[in-house]
Amino acid sequence: MTTPPTSSPCPTGPRPAEARTSGAALPEQGLPADRVLADLAELCADDHDYDDGTVFNSICSTPLPIAERVFAAHQHANLGDNRIFPSLARAEAEVTAMLAELMDGPGASGVATSGGTEANLLAVLAALRRHQRCFGTGGPARILLGDSAHFSFDKIAALLPVEVVRVPSDERLRVDTARLLPLITPDTALVVATAGSSESGAVDDVPAIAGHAAALGVPVHVDAATGGFLVPLARDLGEPLPAIGLSVPGVTSVTLDPHKYGGAPIPAGHVLFRDEEDPAALRTASHYRGTFDHHALLGTRPGGALLATWAALRAQGRGGYRVAVAGLWERRELLVRLLTEAGFEIAPRPELTVVTVRHPAPEKLVDELERQGLIASVARRLGLLRLVVHWHQDDRQLRRLVQALAEADGGRP
Ligand SMILES: *Cc1c(COP(=O)(O)O)cnc(C)c1O
Repeated sequence: MTTPPTSSPCPTGPRPAEARTSGAALPEQGLPADRVLADLAELCADDHDYDDGTVFNSICSTPLPIAERVFAAHQHANLGDNRIFPSLARAEAEVTAMLAELMDGPGASGVATSGGTEANLLAVLAALRRHQRCFGTGGPARILLGDSAHFSFDKIAALLPVEVVRVPSDERLRVDTARLLPLITPDTALVVATAGSSESGAVDDVPAIAGHAAALGVPVHVDAATGGFLVPLARDLGEPLPAIGLSVPGVTSVTLDPHKYGGAPIPAGHVLFRDEEDPAALRTASHYRGTFDHHALLGTRPGGALLATWAALRAQGRGGYRVAVAGLWERRELLVRLLTEAGFEIAPRPELTVVTVRHPAPEKLVDELERQGLIASVARRLGLLRLVVHWHQDDRQLRRLVQALAEADGGRP
């Protein structure tokens, strides 16, 4: 039996007072800067600092110092206006080229985005347009997604006319290839593979998926928002991870998030396309003479973040990212060892920087940690405690984390 709604499901009038947010009103008279800054300090008083060793749930971190400097100096730069900022088209092309090299796809096209969500949206939209070109607009545009795919695809499925088919994960939390491959048919609009799920770090078997899809002429998008700055470098270091980039036959587009492990400030994402027709299909004509047509979702776009990404990529180089990844892997192994010694069960074995722990009450652990000012997380759909290793942590902080977890777990030493 359903209970009748207490109010209209579609309210149109003013909201009741208690539902309004409290907070500062717009002052009639502007306040002096020192007062504004003092209020701001109070507003942000409870925020954590990545560098204070309390953050164990975040795939984002402090940007590289050079990226912070460039971002601060170019906040006004608007990628939506190439006449005022001719540098930005070149910067976008150069960032595309550098990311394409990281993804083994020299010559790929690309679009700078606000992050992985927008990048994934553009990849799906390009696939949808390709599907409409090839199959007409009538049929359903079916998209195959692993259960481990990021929830940005839930938003995308709500926005675009696509029919999403979800495929369960295997015991390593990757999309179950044995179940996925038989579902790919020549009229499938897109297959999405995840190279580093944000919940567990699992890396899908991109070569197997893309090889099979390519034989049927079906495009494959690799969501490497988490793994883009990890997997290729870890492979350089000899880690047994699959290729995820554009050199894999059948991969047609890739999402990367420089604002995660790339050292860039938020908002910095990117989508790469193997085939120039895909970004061309995203084109929206500008209404203004001399202003470039748009290929992204946003209109006014953060050019400062793009320039900071450009600076981060050039300052780090592949070698710098490789050194960073070697450090992350060492710290991950330390965390795994400390957790195991404290009696926790790591499950499954981590592939990237997310360490998941099987526990009967992960929420309880995370709540207790939070009372002590430490932020860990629970991957709700998996029921696993989730810890993210990042370059803002050091060994001492990881030891403190495991100590706190062991205490929260029942007073073990
Ligand atoms: C972070 C992430 C996204 C979304 O990226 P935003 O930058 O948060 O918009 C998409 N997919 C994966 C795998 C991610 O880790």
